[in-house]
Amino acid sequence: MNYCYRNDSDMTNGEGLRVTIFVSGCEHHCEDCFNKQTWDRNYGSPFTEEIKQSILDRLKKPFVEGISILGGDPLMPYNYDEVLELCKAIKKETGKSIYIWTGYSTEYVLDKFCELLDYTDMIVTEKFEKELKDVTLYLRGSSNQKFIVNKKVYSEPPKGY
Ligand code: SF4
Repeated sequence: MNYCYRNDSDMTNGEGLRVTIFVSGCEHHCEDCFNKQTWDRNYGSPFTEEIKQSILDRLKKPFVEGISILGGDPLMPYNYDEVLELCKAIKKETGKSIYIWTGYSTEYVLDKFCELLDYTDMIVTEKFEKELKDVTLYLRGSSNQKFIVNKKVYSEPPKGY
């Protein structure tokens, strides 16, 4: 897996101070995607064990609330295994919150990514739809996008996320 951007002090992609990482590769190709350079899975740099360990170290700081994993799409088949392993390690070693953004449909995520749901706190689903774009929305670009929390589906992010 490659990643193209990391921010250790992000306050825009969820509750509290978070680590944010954008992984490379996305085949949803939404019209007017905000991040087209990340469609190429080879874009950016390899996600190495050292990077993984430094993320874990950062998440162990008491003032860091959790991690937000965006892209690209973290759930593309070539990214999924490493993202799942990262989430398992984060939960085991830090217990911090994990948010993930994907362009897959809500139904597909609930059906195909059961194991990941056990290790994440929130997954934001659905492709970006330019006709439904709304820059005032929190944690999503268009109003069709949904939130899976504890295997339940919400149209708005639940309070506290
Ligand atoms: S899912 Fe996200 S990264 Fe992929 S094309 Fe759509 S907006 Fe862009």
